[in-house]
Amino acid sequence: MDAEDFGQVLGVVREFVRNEVVPRETWIDEHDEIPRDIRDKAAGLGLFGWALPVDFGGLGLAMAEDVALAIELGYTTPAFRSLFGTNNGIAGKAIVDYGREDQRSYWLPKLAAGEAIASFALTEAEAGSDPSGLVSKAVSDGSQYVLTGTKRFITNAPLADLFVVFARTAPDSVGSKGISALLVPATLPGVTVGPHDAKMGQGGAWTSEVFFDDVAVPFDALIGEEGKGFRIAMASLARGRLHIAAICVGMAGRALEEAVEHARTARQGGKPIGEHQLVQALLAESFAELHAGRSMVHAAAAAYDSGEDRKLGPSAAKLFCTEMLGRVADRAVQVFGGMGYMRGVTVERIYRDARLFRIYEGTSEIQKLVIAKQLLDPR
Ligand SMILES: Cc1cc2nc3c(=O)[nH]c(=O)nc-3n(C[C@H](O)[C@H](O)[C@H](O)COP(=O)(O)OP(=O)(O)OC[C@H]3O[C@@H](n4cnc5c(N)ncnc54)[C@H](O)[C@@H]3O)c2cc1C
Repeated sequence: MDAEDFGQVLGVVREFVRNEVVPRETWIDEHDEIPRDIRDKAAGLGLFGWALPVDFGGLGLAMAEDVALAIELGYTTPAFRSLFGTNNGIAGKAIVDYGREDQRSYWLPKLAAGEAIASFALTEAEAGSDPSGLVSKAVSDGSQYVLTGTKRFITNAPLADLFVVFARTAPDSVGSKGISALLVPATLPGVTVGPHDAKMGQGGAWTSEVFFDDVAVPFDALIGEEGKGFRIAMASLARGRLHIAAICVGMAGRALEEAVEHARTARQGGKPIGEHQLVQALLAESFAELHAGRSMVHAAAAAYDSGEDRKLGPSAAKLFCTEMLGRVADRAVQVFGGMGYMRGVTVERIYRDARLFRIYEGTSEIQKLVIAKQLLDPR
């Protein structure tokens, strides 16, 4: 997309986020639901397909544009982004990069238009940080795969029309070998979704368990090569890490903005609390870290687009920015004092919402392992 067109997209999204989502973010958090009209308007803006190819109805944004958009989306509740995050990210990318032409032309236009929602079903009870321990099986009975297994914490599962499921097609295999990626429509008999989980934060973004009980899955549901699904899962997660880092930059920016405004206007001892130097220190530390995080995200995105680095930068940015957001949110609560602990106050919500980013799409500990592995063995 040329710079002028992208500038317009960014401007429209910014206005929508600030004028239409921000005023309802407390409602979304309290009711644990995104209103239908917001979903429909997001679809109209093309947000269900920002990262999907133009040929299939998406916006086809490059990584540098993706992070700029994510910073805008991060300004409001992350549940908003989560609604269309899996279509563009972990689930959609698997189809874009590894799907056959018929799979791409069937699913991607529906995903880009927001007519269908796709979920990425990798995690199991004993396969989270180390998904190569997954035990779901998709065994051939000669005419189809028979899929059995249970996935948990699957984002958008209650809304999903399609699951990108990772299961062992070589039932006796262990580790990362023998795992395949399958496109499983939610309507197939034997697919059931549990009630949505009650979470600490990110109200309005739903996760659930998903059960596959002897689901008959046609052979042509396979994405990529049989037994090569683990690589598909890892590749889908890498781009998502940089996107998550940018969301954290947007959220940290909002937290700091709220804290500055409070420091300027709330009074103690007859003067604004912002006149106390220890409060100023909280703001200054957050600004410096936010600036570092934003610069890192833009630099990592440029290296991603040029092909120079698609692994080290995204992991380093996810590690730093998710942890940075935790610190910035914590300081913002501190600046608000007792008010920062009250429901309905933006920084209280951000404090709870922020916690997830250090856990999903690879915990901070796993990012450290990825970074160190690249440093020690950069092949
Ligand atoms: C709200 C939410 C949404 C999610 N959405 C999805 C989704 O859409 N699709 C999906 O497939 N999954 C999803 N997940 C799952 C998520 O990716 C996992 O929760 C995450 O990867 C951590 O795995 P785990 O929960 O099994 O924790 P564990 O892997 O059990 O981790 C527990 C602790 O052990 C540490 N640890 C584990 N292994 C190592 C190691 N080798 N070295 C050092 N430390 C280690 C971890 O860092 C962590 O601190 C979601 C989770 C949540 C909470």
